[in-house]
Amino acid sequence: YTVFCVVGTRPEAIKMAPVIQALQESGCFKPVVCSTGQHREMLYSTLEMFDIVPDIDLQVMLPNQRLSDLTARILTRIDDAMGSVNPDYVLVQGDTTSTMAAAIAAFYRKIPVGHIEAGLRTRNLHAPFPEEANRRIVSVVADYHFAPTQAARINLLSEGVTDDRIFVTGNTVVDALLWMAERIKKDSVLARQMEAAIPALKRCREEGRKLILVTGHRRENFGEGFANICKAISQIAERKDVEIVYPVHLNPNVRGPVYQMLGNYPNISLIDPVDYRWFVGLMLRSYLILTDSGGVQEEAPVLGKPVLVMRQVTEREEAVKEGVVKLVGTDVRRIVTETTRLLDDKAFYAQMSRSVLCYGDGYAAQRIVGILSSVNDK
Ligand code: UDP
Repeated sequence: YTVFCVVGTRPEAIKMAPVIQALQESGCFKPVVCSTGQHREMLYSTLEMFDIVPDIDLQVMLPNQRLSDLTARILTRIDDAMGSVNPDYVLVQGDTTSTMAAAIAAFYRKIPVGHIEAGLRTRNLHAPFPEEANRRIVSVVADYHFAPTQAARINLLSEGVTDDRIFVTGNTVVDALLWMAERIKKDSVLARQMEAAIPALKRCREEGRKLILVTGHRRENFGEGFANICKAISQIAERKDVEIVYPVHLNPNVRGPVYQMLGNYPNISLIDPVDYRWFVGLMLRSYLILTDSGGVQEEAPVLGKPVLVMRQVTEREEAVKEGVVKLVGTDVRRIVTETTRLLDDKAFYAQMSRSVLCYGDGYAAQRIVGILSSVNDK
């Protein structure tokens, strides 16, 4: 049986990779990997980490394109690709434009669609934009909903998805993370390579400074949000006991303000996005993480790293309820105060740095492939 696996962006690649690997090992399924190329550079280097080479590359990106052009191009190109592969199943992950357009194309062709990471909701259609709408649209057309948590299952039930179509599997990001953390442990040269490329890491090790890892890319934070985030980071950098390492997303709306406002601090290292192995290596060495990323909110709790989320809302409330992730928005004072508290208040830090497995146990991909094979037998 052929399974058409769609990947468009870096997080989709990370979260789809364990499923592709499990399909390859299953004996009864053949994965065909289709890249839309929505995040071309970051997508390819990520897939390489997992030894995955896309079978199909749609190359949909054009400069200054409208979201509607992008959607239309993915829809027609992926439809052609599905027509020539003629798969038995289509698997999509998450909430990107690629995910949504691929799910609709499969629906039009009457090919059963499985949605990985189904049921995440903020309940505000416009936040995040356009992801919340994308994931809701996918839920309407999908046949199998692989929900990471019980909370996601309940969201789907409340929208009328029937229980027999929902499977709580855990999030495949935990599979990817544990696999990568294991590889890192066995890698004796990685730490040296990372210290050579990012001298801040050496200073942390030798001078006992604390590493603050930062990422950010959300459309909802473009403009004022990023300006505030940068202001907060520059204030935190006044402390001499911290090193801030920030792999800056390739989007010009992010790079512009970040390089302009944070380019000249001795203890702020602005670097290009790093591959997944390096990023997991950075998370492992960090003291705390400031981010607006969805995936990082799911990964850091597994590693016992406190996260301050620079967003107003999150669709990942499980770790917030566990008390290891805190929503701080993009208010300068709030970001600085909460970071300072984590740096100075040992009891607060201990409470927020518990390792928590609320998003999965590392076996989500195996469960997904097991479910596909049992529905296939029916
Ligand atoms: N990540 C990475 N390199 C980086 C920054 C992040 O590999 O320089 C990984 C991170 O571990 C996580 C994923 O990319 O698994 C998150 O991607 P992003 O923040 O772009 O998207 P989101 O998760 O918010 O959809």
